[in-house]
Amino acid sequence: MVALAACQSNESNTAAKATHAKAAAASAELTRKANMAAAAKVKANELGNIPVIMYHRVTDKPGGTDDRTPAQFRAELERLASENYVPITAAEYVSGKIDIPAGTHPVVLTFDDSSPSQLTLDAMGTPQPNTAVGILLDVSKKHPGFRPVATFFVIRDMFGKFTPEERAQVLGWLRDNGFDIGNHTRDHLNLLGKSEKEVTEQIAAGQKLISDLDKKVQVHTLALPYGNQPRDKQWALHGSANGVRYDYQGVFLAGYTPAPSPFTKEFNPVGIPRIRSMDKKGDCVKFCSTAWLDELNAHPDERYTSDGNPTTVAFPKFKTPFVAKNVTTNALPY
Ligand SMILES: [Zn+2]
Repeated sequence: MVALAACQSNESNTAAKATHAKAAAASAELTRKANMAAAAKVKANELGNIPVIMYHRVTDKPGGTDDRTPAQFRAELERLASENYVPITAAEYVSGKIDIPAGTHPVVLTFDDSSPSQLTLDAMGTPQPNTAVGILLDVSKKHPGFRPVATFFVIRDMFGKFTPEERAQVLGWLRDNGFDIGNHTRDHLNLLGKSEKEVTEQIAAGQKLISDLDKKVQVHTLALPYGNQPRDKQWALHGSANGVRYDYQGVFLAGYTPAPSPFTKEFNPVGIPRIRSMDKKGDCVKFCSTAWLDELNAHPDERYTSDGNPTTVAFPKFKTPFVAKNVTTNALPY
């Protein structure tokens, strides 16, 4: 009797399990269908291109072809906000953590060379209004969906600060306020044609510069000075020198196109293109920010559009051959 009861209960357990599994599968299928419908509704394309914009100084007296005035910088951010772009950091981009509302497009705002025009804080820790960060915070206040995040690729000229205390204050402020810090090497040397030792020493020194000032800062990315790749491109991604090891998830160049989605086969962490912020003039008629934002507007089918669900990678079924191999369980072709 005991044996029979046990057997019966096992049987009913198995049956219950099967029913449960069936119900779970049906519910997963329903969720999947709902996700597909939601993605199709906003024409989600998470295999599309993402503009990674490169800024240098934001100053009233532009010194070269890399600088923008505060008015120009503000106008570009206003344009991005009005065209449904939402900033994400370089770290979020390379790791595919793109959590923005349905129908919006990611943009990565990057700042090179850690100049005081990007961030200067007063004695109470408030950003000066005409610095890049001051302007970004102001635009974000006017457009609440426009996340005030950006990535700062820093070098030894640490926002014009010289004492370790003041330098730590600026890095700590960036970290506390959700900004991302990347390495741009310590001395901003051209790494083209340099030996492995010279390349890894420069990058490790940049990493040490940051972690010595603020141990809590996690560095996930590097921007190459002048966008020049070392002889072996992998040296920029992984290496160690003088007891400092670095392992990055992405290395950024200096030009000239929007970057591929991190979910496509085209994504290559050793050389991620960026776009210089500039109007359509001279060599910027086609390859800088105004021209590329016009181009992405003219070809929305090539631009990254989010489905609003960070757990799926949604795209029109037609684009399936371009999905990266590591996107498997969460792919949502529709
Ligand atoms: Zn630079």
